[in-house]
Amino acid sequence: MTAQTDTGCVVEAYGRRVVVARSGGDRISCKVRGRSLEAVAGDQVRVSLEASDDEWTVTERLPRRNVLCRSDSRGRTESIAANLDQLGVVVAARPACDPFIVDRYLAGASYAGIATLLVVNKLDLPADAGDLSFVEPLRAIGIPVVQVSAHAGTGLDALIAVLSGHRTMLAGQSGVGKSSLLNALAGEALRATGALSTASGEGRHTTVSSAILQVPWGELADSPGVRDYAPPVVPLQDVQSGFIEIAALARGCRFQDCVHSREPQCAVQAAVAAGKIDARRYESYRRLLNLTRQLEEKRGWRG
Ligand code: GDP
Ligand code: ZN
Repeated sequence: MTAQTDTGCVVEAYGRRVVVARSGGDRISCKVRGRSLEAVAGDQVRVSLEASDDEWTVTERLPRRNVLCRSDSRGRTESIAANLDQLGVVVAARPACDPFIVDRYLAGASYAGIATLLVVNKLDLPADAGDLSFVEPLRAIGIPVVQVSAHAGTGLDALIAVLSGHRTMLAGQSGVGKSSLLNALAGEALRATGALSTASGEGRHTTVSSAILQVPWGELADSPGVRDYAPPVVPLQDVQSGFIEIAALARGCRFQDCVHSREPQCAVQAAVAAGKIDARRYESYRRLLNLTRQLEEKRGWRG
């Protein structure tokens, strides 16, 4: 017999163990039932405490609004975090950012139907500290850009305004200042969460795969394990959905199944030649097309 049941939100995930913030607000450490039930940070779940058990169990995952996924090096899809409102890709002039990784994050979020924004950190560095020329074309296609300095505190109010009332995942290459930014945005809350996860016995020997930080004005999601991000494998035809300016022109192509690579009478290739689509973005699209092909082959037909 089930003694108690409740629902809550997964705020920390360690594989088969999770920390759930219950509807009443308190946090419980849970195991995830069975082998196939997947629960990541952001998931709403049902939990139960059997009379015969001394530990809460996640028994069911409630329907997801969306889930941000990645592909592992063998082409298998892994979930990172669920029910996100937006993905903020953090970049900085130093260390040099790889704009192709930025585009891959943007594409992965678009695949999942998650809005994106760009957070340019380290505004305090001199203007010639690094090449951020990839930012302007992204702004031009409608991606909001917020400039901040985690160190100097510049722009943080504007950033909080964009994050307010939303659950935002902050992602980016190592060294761009993600942790500094999280600290600057939510220092107190962050320390409190750290203390709690130690108290619940998690996190000491295991690495958190994803976590959600609840702050008074919103929620911040973090996935420290994800470094070199690759979006999940999708049919080649769908790769364009990760590049809004390319997808917007696809109807003008002669062939309905055009992947804008070498096909004749391709509206996308014409727009690149005419300078209407940023050449670097198009190159990035081509790279993702190739990466998707390679991962698809590694994965084979078994998925
Ligand atoms: P993460 O790997 O993305 O989590 O980056 P960290 O937060 O660990 O920061 C990487 C390095 O960048 C550290 O040396 C930080 O002190 C530095 N850093 C972070 N934010 C800023 C900033 O706004 N300005 C400058 N100049 N350095 C920063
Ligand atoms: Zn085309």
